[in-house]
Amino acid sequence: MKVLVINAGSSSLKYQLIDMETEGVIAKGLCERIGIDKSVLKHKANGKETVINQDMPTHQEAIKLVLDALVSKEYGVLNSMDEISAVGHRIVHSGEVFSGPILMTDENIEKCLSLTEFAPLHQPANIAGVKACKQVMPNTPMVGVFDTTFHNTMPEEAYIFGIPYEAYENYKIRRYGFHGTSHRFVSSEAIKYLGLEGKNSKIVTCHLGNGSSISAVKDGKCMDTSMSFTPLGGVPMGTRCGDLDPAIIEFLMKKLDCDIASAINYCNKKSGVLGVSGVSSDFRDLSAASSEGNHRAQLALDIFAYSVKKYVGSYSAVMGGIDCLVFTAGVGENDKTIRKEVCKDLGYLGVEIDEELNAQSNNGKIRDISKAGSKVKVLVIPTNEELVIARDTLAVAFAK
Ligand code: ADP
Repeated sequence: MKVLVINAGSSSLKYQLIDMETEGVIAKGLCERIGIDKSVLKHKANGKETVINQDMPTHQEAIKLVLDALVSKEYGVLNSMDEISAVGHRIVHSGEVFSGPILMTDENIEKCLSLTEFAPLHQPANIAGVKACKQVMPNTPMVGVFDTTFHNTMPEEAYIFGIPYEAYENYKIRRYGFHGTSHRFVSSEAIKYLGLEGKNSKIVTCHLGNGSSISAVKDGKCMDTSMSFTPLGGVPMGTRCGDLDPAIIEFLMKKLDCDIASAINYCNKKSGVLGVSGVSSDFRDLSAASSEGNHRAQLALDIFAYSVKKYVGSYSAVMGGIDCLVFTAGVGENDKTIRKEVCKDLGYLGVEIDEELNAQSNNGKIRDISKAGSKVKVLVIPTNEELVIARDTLAVAFAK
């Protein structure tokens, strides 16, 4: 069976066609500038990239173009689109409405849209992707897999904020958490790798990419996570500020003479390691600048590692210690210096990494970088959110 995984953003659409027998990627690609001029599809299959410049006024044209590419005689991988057994869609927000992946019936689509106020940019785009696929492939099952549902197991004390309880009751203001498919994937991979299935386990998963979040996962269940009501909370990220004293927003608005939307934009797009360094949101650029003596680039890296370390410590307190620390995503999988700085001085928790193993380059496989005898296993695990979505899609679409 083959599953098509779709991740639709406001002006982009990423896809992967996955062979569920081998769990390998048959083809993948990206539509950019949907609804803007100069839209382009970059399609990769059989080791070759094909670039197709064609207008995509809406997600529907984008989906049609993707399907055309998949069945193309020249660069396609399918004889017909009937070979696609089901389509899995990444949906950002489940609110408190859903507890796991769902069939995208008309009723569920409406329920997802009713959660738009929690993710105003992403949710409508995700649903536009679902609707476009349903139009073009009316007989193929569509499944939605949420970023948030892995965090549903957090206890109340982890998700209720210290503001009047009515804000939760009336407006559902609470911690939701994001990157759930990634935290779920890497924590379950760690459990398998360490042979901890069915046993007690305390794992801290660090998803460190452009956006970053850290989760406490006890016995396979999320106990707490650093992202919060929106993906702006937690550690400072590429361009996002992370946790901030809320009074700063009003202060900033007065100083910058700006409205609330501009202040939030400042925190979302101009902050994080980009804002601190003034150099870049990309950790490779920051390392390069720092090695040339740029103090602010080094400071941005230090702040990032320090913030991640603080979460590792606090989640160890939450779970009564840790057995395993996992690094994943672009920075977590590739940046040895960030890993080293996060783990520095965590010997008291039993975290000790082997510098040589840590310095080896990413080979796309699980790597144990802990010192022989380290009480805590430190693992680098490549994340695979698309595979999680594809597996869930198959399970929901063909549930008996
Ligand atoms: P996203 O959150 O967009 O999914 P990724 O998980 O792909 O992001 O992470 C992207 C980030 O990973 C880049 O911004 C870059 O900072 C970082 N990154 C990628 N490769 C490396 C590398 N070799 N060394 C350090 N950082 C890297």
